[in-house]
Amino acid sequence: PMTERAMHSYDPQNIFARILRGEIPNKTVLETPHTLAFHDIHPQAPIHVLVIPKGPYVTYDHFAAEASDAEIVDFTRAVNQVCELVGVRPGDGLGGYRLISNAGEAGVQEVPHLHVHVMGGRVLGRMVSKP
Ligand code: 5GP
Repeated sequence: PMTERAMHSYDPQNIFARILRGEIPNKTVLETPHTLAFHDIHPQAPIHVLVIPKGPYVTYDHFAAEASDAEIVDFTRAVNQVCELVGVRPGDGLGGYRLISNAGEAGVQEVPHLHVHVMGGRVLGRMVSKP
């Protein structure tokens, strides 16, 4: 079986680590002490923002298990601020959104740095599809 370390081993050359180091530009929506939110480069909805912690966490479970309380609060509050900034809070025009965080193989995660997709601006259809 995989060890905890192997499951969570972080690749510092992943694209979001490079964005955090300023090596690649991004269209920032929000930056806080522990969190960065920016527009997805290939949006799949009129609103498609990625929210990432600045720390080296691979998946949501990794972050939830090992991040500090301050990081977790900052990240969670940042998602709220993003919803307000991009206008997807339910009740305001076509409000509403979907949060997605893909992890690992079954989740079809492409970038191995935790990110939550905040998607909205259109009716998003059914929750998941079969491959
Ligand atoms: P995943 O499949 O890992 O959940 O999602 C990765 C997301 O990152 C995809 O939606 C993809 O479009 C986005 N992405 C990949 N590379 C870049 C990049 O360099 N800049 C931005 N802004 N988004 C990226």
